[in-house]
Amino acid sequence: MVRPEDMWQCQTVNCGYIYNPDKGDRKGKIPKGTLFQDIPDDWRCPICGGTKKCFRPLMGEGSTKADCELPVETDPEKLTVAVSAAKMTDQKESDSMKKYVCEICGYVYDPAEGDSDGDIPAGTSFDDLPDYWTCPVCGASKDNFVLED
Ligand SMILES: [Zn+2]
Ligand SMILES: [Zn+2]
Repeated sequence: MVRPEDMWQCQTVNCGYIYNPDKGDRKGKIPKGTLFQDIPDDWRCPICGGTKKCFRPLMGEGSTKADCELPVETDPEKLTVAVSAAKMTDQKESDSMKKYVCEICGYVYDPAEGDSDGDIPAGTSFDDLPDYWTCPVCGASKDNFVLED
């Protein structure tokens, strides 16, 4: 059970990513169970690229966002464009349309269809699903999905 003060939310405009120590951060190679305080200082928000200083806990003693450093652009609109452009270039078309299977119930996420129950539009790759997205059948988190072969 994660305490709210162990959940850290990115304060960057348009981001709102929440670091959950129960899940870690696969993109940043942070193993499950790593407290936010124990993440290396060069770790960046997987969504917007902000530094650890952009984060504050959901509860308890807060850090300030005054020191928040973003990689290139600080203008939120330009930043969002830069992030989505980066996503498009480093992801091959074929990769983005791969199907993922829920290991728990066997539900298949098909990017060509999206997930209407979860307000996921057709054409959304599995990688682009929000971290809070869960299996529409059994409620399992993205961690429980594997690439269909
Ligand atoms: Zn962020
Ligand atoms: Zn499932």
